[in-house]
Amino acid sequence: MRKDLVDILACPMCKTPLELTVEEESGEEVVSGHLSCKKCSERYPIEDRIPNLLPPEMRDA
Ligand SMILES: [Zn+2]
Repeated sequence: MRKDLVDILACPMCKTPLELTVEEESGEEVVSGHLSCKKCSERYPIEDRIPNLLPPEMRDA
């Protein structure tokens, strides 16, 4: 995902803006890392450039 996408992403649970933590990046793109919600203390992983914003209980479906 592009780094500036974080500006329009929000927590799917509470709609709070998410905080981006980059582990690996390529130019303007985040390859891996996570998005975190301070309000829920929830983390949403970014893997292979794709942010996974499913609520935690739906991820294994
Ligand atoms: Zn939240």
